Amino acid sequence: MSTRPAIVIIGTGFGGLGMAIQLIRSGFHDFLVLEKSGDLGGTWRENTYPGCACDVPSHMYSFSFELNPGWTRMFAPQREIQEYLHRTADKYGVKRYIRYNSKVERMEYDDAAQRWEVTLADGTRYRPKAVVSGIGALHIPSYPDLPGLDTFKGTTFHSAEWDHTYDLTGKRVAVIGTGASAIQFVPKVAEQAAQLHVFQRTAPWIQPKPDKEFGTGVRAFLKTVPGAARTLRYGIYWALEARAVGFTVDPRLSGPMDKLARRHIRRQIADPELRRKVTPDYTIGCKRVLLSNDYYPALTRPNVDLITEGVAEVREHSIVTGDGRELEVDCIIYGTGFKVVDALAEQQIVGRGGVKLQELWAEGAEAHHGVTLPGFPNFFMLLGPNTGLGHNSVVFMIEVQIQHILSCLRLLAEQRADTIEPRPEAVRRFNDRMHRRLRRAVWNEGGCTSWYLDANGVNRTLWPGFTFEYWLSSRRARPADYVIG
Ligand code: NAP
Repeated sequence: MSTRPAIVIIGTGFGGLGMAIQLIRSGFHDFLVLEKSGDLGGTWRENTYPGCACDVPSHMYSFSFELNPGWTRMFAPQREIQEYLHRTADKYGVKRYIRYNSKVERMEYDDAAQRWEVTLADGTRYRPKAVVSGIGALHIPSYPDLPGLDTFKGTTFHSAEWDHTYDLTGKRVAVIGTGASAIQFVPKVAEQAAQLHVFQRTAPWIQPKPDKEFGTGVRAFLKTVPGAARTLRYGIYWALEARAVGFTVDPRLSGPMDKLARRHIRRQIADPELRRKVTPDYTIGCKRVLLSNDYYPALTRPNVDLITEGVAEVREHSIVTGDGRELEVDCIIYGTGFKVVDALAEQQIVGRGGVKLQELWAEGAEAHHGVTLPGFPNFFMLLGPNTGLGHNSVVFMIEVQIQHILSCLRLLAEQRADTIEPRPEAVRRFNDRMHRRLRRAVWNEGGCTSWYLDANGVNRTLWPGFTFEYWLSSRRARPADYVIG
């Protein structure tokens, strides 16, 4: 395969695969896909912790052009999603374009040649005309900086790097963090461990998970009845959009969501003290609203305790809690999430005139529709700044972005041009409008801190509106917003 393909795509998650498929469907084949690992799948390859499943209904958390009537559950487990990605990659013939074990370390734009130079960790270089980054935001594990952690003699691992060789049976385990990942694996670990200490810094809002198995009859129905799977997808889409009213219009409209979550606590936990500990003190929606039917019951088990006093110190075989108790532990599991802001900045991306992405983003990460950057010609991002979601499927957002990128490529072809990049004033307009809206939103006003916000308290991760608003505004590149040369 050429080292001078027209396009290099980075990553083989939903983003990279979706982009590759749409290029193939448009009859474009001069591209390759670079994957750092030996397998495809992105986040669904990396996260294999027990209980790992999607918390967005699978009929929506899949490509619109590749419905899967065969999902066995409303919320499919990780393995099934990974299989779906493999099957889809096979069906559309993507795999022959993928170069595995190809970790991109640096990308630099060569203005004279109007090409990007993409350098891998092993020194291999590619010189494409365009780059599509599908590296995602949730892939650099974030480790807590606990005092004395380096003295700990037991086993430690992160939820995204689960050590399946370590048998948790009968062990004394500590879990740090109570986010989306932890609430999925805590019930599984609780079944195995002799003792489980769950360290909660901030209580998450949790609602019942409307999960259900799809039996063979339902699956056959969805497969054979024309329009059935599509109708189910639409139904889920609008149900999820309705959840966003409190996020996007006014947090006061979140009342029913708040009631549902509080009732969930009352129904699943009898102990008033535990109820108090798990009840958040901020507006629902400020952090990601989680779904679980088995997390609260796990906390009520005799071998599980929820610790809200924090970690004062880690010793060779124990953790000392903030209120001075010393707990003997064999293993510490970090459910502490990811370094979201560093995800793109970790890679050396250098645009025209030697300007680094970090310099462009010195005041905060922003892009045109979350996809393109001024001074970075022919560089496109999937799930870039402010295109994450708290209420619906990010696969929808990825597909809108792929349409945006394809329309940029079409503009290049129609105008027989070599480069396309957004006008700074267009980027300004788009982001000013969005940030005006974000200032009033629950993520800033809801009384919590979260990884949605950067060091200056500005939300750089979430789209503040309904997803159909993003579709309406962003699926096509407006020629007037771009310099095409
Ligand atoms: P997360 O939501 O960022 O949660 C991290 C948890 O660790 C939080 O409870 C956090 O507490 C705690 N924490 C972080 N640093 C800590 C420290 N130094 N000391 C003590 N506690 C600390 O991470 P995640 O659970 O891995 O989920 C990340 C994202 O992945 C989710 O928001 C979601 O977008 C995605 N996800 C999706 C699914 C799915 O099914 N689709 C499943 C899992 C994850 P604070 O709240 O106080 O910061």
